[in-house]
Amino acid sequence: MMVSISDNIKKDFPLLQSKMHGQKLVYLDNAATTQKPQVVLDKLLAYYQNDNANVYRGVYDLSQRATSAYEQARKKVAQFLNAPKVEEIIFTKGTTQSLNFIAAGFGMNNFQAGQEIVLSCAEHHSNLVPWQNLAKKKGLKLVYIDLNTDGSLDLKDADKKIGQKTALVAINHVSNVLGTINDVKSLANLAHKNGALIAVDGAQAAPHMKVDLKNLDLDFYAFSGHKMLGPTGIGVLWAKSDLLDAMTPLEFGGEMIDEVGLYETSYAKAPYKFEGGTPNIAGAIGLGVAIDYLTELGMDNIQVYEEKLVTYLINRLQEIEGLEIYGPKKRVSGIVSFNLKGLHPHDLATVLDMQGIAVRAGHHCAQPLMAWLDVPACARASLYFYNTKEDCDKLVTGIIKSKEFFE
Ligand code: PLP
Repeated sequence: MMVSISDNIKKDFPLLQSKMHGQKLVYLDNAATTQKPQVVLDKLLAYYQNDNANVYRGVYDLSQRATSAYEQARKKVAQFLNAPKVEEIIFTKGTTQSLNFIAAGFGMNNFQAGQEIVLSCAEHHSNLVPWQNLAKKKGLKLVYIDLNTDGSLDLKDADKKIGQKTALVAINHVSNVLGTINDVKSLANLAHKNGALIAVDGAQAAPHMKVDLKNLDLDFYAFSGHKMLGPTGIGVLWAKSDLLDAMTPLEFGGEMIDEVGLYETSYAKAPYKFEGGTPNIAGAIGLGVAIDYLTELGMDNIQVYEEKLVTYLINRLQEIEGLEIYGPKKRVSGIVSFNLKGLHPHDLATVLDMQGIAVRAGHHCAQPLMAWLDVPACARASLYFYNTKEDCDKLVTGIIKSKEFFE
């Protein structure tokens, strides 16, 4: 595979060649899910055509091939994250399931009533609702770090809120609405100084920047394959091995056991004890190919490219009268949320769709953040490395046309 970021990289993505309402598709909803390159699609087909068998069950060659491809994908994820150990990589359905596993499998058994979970109001519901549920069940308190007026995390307030009562800091690496990047390394340091743990929702970070787990010294990290060129239904939970030892499985059945008696069962070690039942074998293998593709492009190159593109987009959006952009002026992730005065974001997104431009509108699974912004909803354009200045220009023209349409 020889790929690099250039204007013709879109040719690797069949869906990006298609038309929407008679116009060439401009896909700007990458924070929701990304498009898939042909190599990932080919691999999925080739796996089912040539290697399909269940994993760990057969001594026959085909099953061993499937097992080996599945485990190879785990190794690729470990390398991609610079994880200390391959066994610390658990395949899940995605970020939501990974975060739920931490809350129900770890928090339920290791946190005590009266302890606190520290969050921000800029969390995706996936990194909020599991903690609310756990807090109710265990008598924990939820504590929120303030945001600065530009939506970034107030680190001075983090210093105040993270203390001796903190059991866990649960925070996003990159906000799916504001595009802010949280300094999770400093937060990890703060948590550890206070004897607490840190779980990071990496759904919007892992696809766009180098995540070096050895360097960040986190305790838990979660992300989704479908937001980084991989198939849907596959994601990752990483945790330090001693924490995985202290975490109970949540799905009981085949392949997660060591020995089963009529009344008692001993469990396998991580990662297997968390992967009960037939896993998403093709999904993991597809994610492995997505990782190869991203690695070939270079995560640092992706981040630099997106930073330049988002700066261009923000500058262009600022030309539009009545358009309010949320989040910090300078941003290093490709997410831009905004509202156009007098126009509901759903109406805006609908008129953009008629012009072949896909953006998301709504609360973005972040209702507390919408309340903080004091808006019911907003529109969001989210870029990936295959987007271009031309896409950004089409969005700006599209918004201006939409404005005229409703005037
Ligand atoms: N966290 C963040 C920051 C997200 O943006 C998303 C999805 O948009 C999620 C969690 C949930 O991811 P998934 O639906 O893949 O589980």
